[in-house]
Amino acid sequence: MARRSGRSELDRADIIVVGGGIAGLSAAHHLSRERLGAVLLLEREGVLCTHSSGRNAAIFLELSSGPGDVALARRSRPMLDELLPGWLSPCGTLMVASDGKSLEPLLARAEREGVRCGRMDRRELLEAAPALEGGNAKAGLFCPGDGVMDVHGVSQALARGIRARGGRIECGAEVAAVEAKGGRLSGVKLASGERVSAGTVVLCGGAWAGELGGTAGAPLSMVPLRRHLAVLVPPEKVTGLQVVWSVDADVYFRPESGGFLASPCDEEPWPPGLPPASQAGLERLAEKLSKVAPALSRSEVRRAWACLRTFAKDRAAVVGADPRVRGLHWMAGLGGHGMTGGLAAGEVLAAAVAGRSDPLGEVLSPVRLLPPPPAAIRRAERRSSRARR
Ligand SMILES: Cc1cc2nc3c(=O)[nH]c(=O)nc-3n(C[C@H](O)[C@H](O)[C@H](O)COP(=O)(O)OP(=O)(O)OC[C@H]3O[C@@H](n4cnc5c(N)ncnc54)[C@H](O)[C@@H]3O)c2cc1C
Repeated sequence: MARRSGRSELDRADIIVVGGGIAGLSAAHHLSRERLGAVLLLEREGVLCTHSSGRNAAIFLELSSGPGDVALARRSRPMLDELLPGWLSPCGTLMVASDGKSLEPLLARAEREGVRCGRMDRRELLEAAPALEGGNAKAGLFCPGDGVMDVHGVSQALARGIRARGGRIECGAEVAAVEAKGGRLSGVKLASGERVSAGTVVLCGGAWAGELGGTAGAPLSMVPLRRHLAVLVPPEKVTGLQVVWSVDADVYFRPESGGFLASPCDEEPWPPGLPPASQAGLERLAEKLSKVAPALSRSEVRRAWACLRTFAKDRAAVVGADPRVRGLHWMAGLGGHGMTGGLAAGEVLAAAVAGRSDPLGEVLSPVRLLPPPPAAIRRAERRSSRARR
């Protein structure tokens, strides 16, 4: 998408964003709108969104379970509306289960957080999603606000806007280390040996974010987990327009190119990289589908792949300033919700860089993942804030 420009142009920036997936693009989008200084996004691959952001299921799902997920989804929606008209095919999600009880926690969360959804009985489920015929789904919730995103269109629109506001995007630029001295950032060193100076660096490296923090002396434990996706073509014609998610079997599918895109919702720790798809992953998918949507379990697999969802240990996104190194910020750990909530997370990040508070700032701050400072330091901090008042 973007070619490296001349060396002199890369010498310095005010804010460097490392990573060109949805996290990096969303961060650079909001930072360039804030006009806090020259923004430079560095992506190692030759093309933006080569990893998770270009290989996911593209489902906009409001009722996700991570801390802050629903709030991020609800904040992202109007931003996506403004960014790219038509970004969503609003087919809705059918959450299904073999008994109504398994859906109660979801329903409670929907009511608490104001997500629109309505109950469905088995007869209505089969009418809406004939693929469930012969399976164990007895109860359902329909969330009409969900759908399938145009993830390619969204990333293109973000990149266009960043450039239009004067931000720079450099692909083929791998950051080897984030450099800091005396607890303050000085910039980054590229794998090519070049150095780019900057007072602010935002780590948006997806599965590699934890490693990148380590190079600045600020490691965070982030765990990448492999998950499979497959495009299935059932032997007989099966109709259905919605995303269907079985909450007890933990499997989902949605229409895709005349067939269905499906995932066994597997989670296997995997090193950062492009993971291969495995036969075992596809067998797990067929086994789960045989319980929920037997017709789909007999499908031909037209294409299968895997990619990584990366989480912090509490499964909330990690967004905000790292107190260990002045100028270092995180926007990582977007887990399985980055396409849905990434744009709002970028807004939370930009507020942190600008020094403003944000309603989600504390929930997502990396501070929650750091060991608490010794009691003596906490007491001294409290005394110093009283002295200031
Ligand atoms: C199977 C699967 C299905 C999913 N389905 C959905 C879904 O339906 N809906 C949804 O909302 N979310 C979904 N997700 C989650 C979503 O894809 C992720 O949350 C999101 O893509 C994470 O974005 P990211 O920018 O953090 O990471 P990535 O997209 O992985 O981007 C990180 C980028 O950083 C770059 N980078 C890393 N290190 C360096 C370095 N040293 N120098 C320069 N660049 C570097 C990488 O090359 C990469 O391009 C799914 C994920 C998976 C795996």
